[in-house]
Amino acid sequence: MTPLVVVISSPSGGGKSSITRRVLSERADVGYSVSATTRPARPGEREGEAYYFLLPVEFERRVANGDFLEHAAYNGHRYGTLASEVRRVTQGGKHVLLDIEIEGARQVRQRFPDALLVFVVPPSGTVLVERLRVRGTESAQVIAGRMERALTELAAALEYDYIVVNDDLEGAVRVVNAILDAEPHRTSRQRDAAFLLDRIRNEIAAELTRSTDIN
Ligand code: 5GP
Repeated sequence: MTPLVVVISSPSGGGKSSITRRVLSERADVGYSVSATTRPARPGEREGEAYYFLLPVEFERRVANGDFLEHAAYNGHRYGTLASEVRRVTQGGKHVLLDIEIEGARQVRQRFPDALLVFVVPPSGTVLVERLRVRGTESAQVIAGRMERALTELAAALEYDYIVVNDDLEGAVRVVNAILDAEPHRTSRQRDAAFLLDRIRNEIAAELTRSTDIN
């Protein structure tokens, strides 16, 4: 099996983080690409687990060094996917999951045309706004900023391969798992398909020859 590069995006409040967490805990064949960011760690976030937390100067140095597959700005901070992370996961034979925003997703698509892009949407705008408000930790101004950003991000969803409506978490996780199970079987992803079909046809042809020889 060729490991897939899987991007999952959604506006803030779309439920992408819960889906990602569930998929990673349920599947041994998927690993997480830990991003680098210049934003400060939130309580409970551990270095090398949630993110690699870098100073802006260090982030710049790594950009200049070509260490990132993609990078983008979000809410005044920089975020990026390290090539070494994607390699670490895929070399372990696993699909690699990238939880990144839309600009980064576009860059990944350019770099890996085969990447699988999944966009998670809330069932309605009202639900998204409610989810943003119940978090309760942010000012009205920050929430308004997230709503504005959601408008831009939702406009990009049509560029993705799949749009998953996150009505209830169980259902959305089931759909993402179904996509991950089915996608490697897509004809264009099966490098050995021609070889496999040849072998099956040869076996049938040989059997046919044998049986016509007997009769
Ligand atoms: P947060 O600060 O809430 O963890 O993430 C903010 C946004 O940045 C989310 O939409 C998240 O998906 C995105 N993000 C996280 N890591 C990366 C990354 O490596 N590259 C890009 N382009 N976006 C990222």
